[in-house]
Amino acid sequence: MMDLNSVVLGIDLGGTKILSAAVDRQGKVICRDLTATPVASGPPGVIATINESARRAIRHNPNDIKAVGLAVAGLVESANGIVHTSPNLPGWNDVSITLELASTFGKPVFTINDAHAAAIGELKYGAGRGCRHFIFITLSTGIGGGLVLDGNIYEGFSGFGGEIGHMVVDDDGPECGCGNRGCWEILASGKALEREARRRIASGEPTSILSYCRPEPGGEPGRAQIDCLNAKTIHTAAIGGDILALELIKHHAYYVGVGLANIVNIFNPERVIIGGGLSNMGDLLLKPAIEEAARRAFKQSFKAVRFMTAELGADAGVIGAAALAWKNLM
Ligand SMILES: [Zn+2]
Repeated sequence: MMDLNSVVLGIDLGGTKILSAAVDRQGKVICRDLTATPVASGPPGVIATINESARRAIRHNPNDIKAVGLAVAGLVESANGIVHTSPNLPGWNDVSITLELASTFGKPVFTINDAHAAAIGELKYGAGRGCRHFIFITLSTGIGGGLVLDGNIYEGFSGFGGEIGHMVVDDDGPECGCGNRGCWEILASGKALEREARRRIASGEPTSILSYCRPEPGGEPGRAQIDCLNAKTIHTAAIGGDILALELIKHHAYYVGVGLANIVNIFNPERVIIGGGLSNMGDLLLKPAIEEAARRAFKQSFKAVRFMTAELGADAGVIGAAALAWKNLM
């Protein structure tokens, strides 16, 4: 018999942060720890940091840890727990992370791609509840995807499926981190929005965007304001009525919409659930993006789909990874 108070440990390993959390059977986060990812120290340093973070997360938790669910930003072969590569985690080539963590924790470990984990989280506890056909999209620094087809996460043959950020939307577009050109991610991610903002500010267009840029607490002193520019500062300037910021978001929405149309045509989903930092822009970004998708997608498929924002926010990855662990314990 499983103790009713038992928990699993969910860990979300991203290119900037590691989130560890004890999660109960209802998907509730009991306690957590958030720490920076020491990317420069490679797999050994990152794995040591995961261990420390996980131990802090469960420090005050008296309940038994049954298993570990790990979400990783990269190409993950979930069947054997190997991270093959990750654009945001340099040096992570063919790392047997599941084996490493299983020997440290002495518990079963289940590893999955981070966007797939977030899709499972939304399916079980968020905007995807009761929905059998939906596509989950993280619009953040990059673009990730999780496909829920016929009620289950679809990972593909090896676990590398759902990389919607790397569908080509401009055959001669800018070079992407994956080596291809004109991927959706290089044109519609938060990084793309920042790149375009920098280009237009550098060309001398009048704007108040830089006045909203503040170096992050603890960041390098004296960093130029333009280095601190990000999607959030562009959004803040747009809310303040800045013409360039509004134009940048509208231009960005065009590319977001082109990708959404492809997704609607390929999958005929019941819902498209949009998460990640850029989804915080709400209608300002999503309304024109959805209008662009409407112009391009099959009318019948477009009429069938509902576009929704994700519900679990930054916790989606740990909650989904924990749900995977619970499922595998059954
Ligand atoms: Zn790409």
